[in-house]
Amino acid sequence: MDTLRIILLGPPGAGKGTQAKSMSESLGLVHISSGDLLRDHQNRGTELGMTARDYMKKGLLVPDNLIIGMIEERIKMEDVESGYILDGFPRTVQQAQSLEKALENQGESIDKVANIVVSDQELIHRLGGRWICRQCQQPFHEINSPPQIEGKCDTCNGELYQREDDTSDAVVQRIKVFGEQTNPLIEYYSTRGTLVSIDGEGSIEQVRQSLIGAVS
Ligand code: AMP
Repeated sequence: MDTLRIILLGPPGAGKGTQAKSMSESLGLVHISSGDLLRDHQNRGTELGMTARDYMKKGLLVPDNLIIGMIEERIKMEDVESGYILDGFPRTVQQAQSLEKALENQGESIDKVANIVVSDQELIHRLGGRWICRQCQQPFHEINSPPQIEGKCDTCNGELYQREDDTSDAVVQRIKVFGEQTNPLIEYYSTRGTLVSIDGEGSIEQVRQSLIGAVS
């Protein structure tokens, strides 16, 4: 199969993480989540992790130069040779331009950008009730998809936790930041002819099918 480089675009709570995980398994691609990389830096107590934490807690974007360096390093690693799904990056036009340049220097480009569309009302509902597994990152929802045993992951039995930026103030802020700083990417990629928009309000399986159809 040809190498596939995909970007999943969409507001917080659109299902990017869930869909990227499942698509990466079906398509044999590496899942690269900028948020997971930052949370890993925080857990390891690195300088980047400590700096990023203050922004993340408030629902603000981490400065472009920090994020760009982290992702450019990641997409040069050997394991991404057959392709990857970027989840949560880019989030600003400057990040998109830097990515484009970095790829151009390697004779590469992004093949498809899938934009997952979900209403603000649905996003607030989803993020407010979200619980995530500390071990395998699988998300649950206290009403829509509760775990079989409270506080435990169905898949790996790991402990479930609520992200500190899933509080109501931070959620509203993250949706606002998306509208102001990330929405311009829809225009950016549609002029490049790589954008496809997907309705993100169906079931996880319906959205998955639409995404697979759109990128393959
Ligand atoms: P996520 O897990 O994708 O929802 O990201 C959680 C938080 O990490 C965001 O609210 C930002 O504070 C930070 N973050 C993740 N990706 C980026 C990015 N590409 N640019 C700036 N900040 C980011």
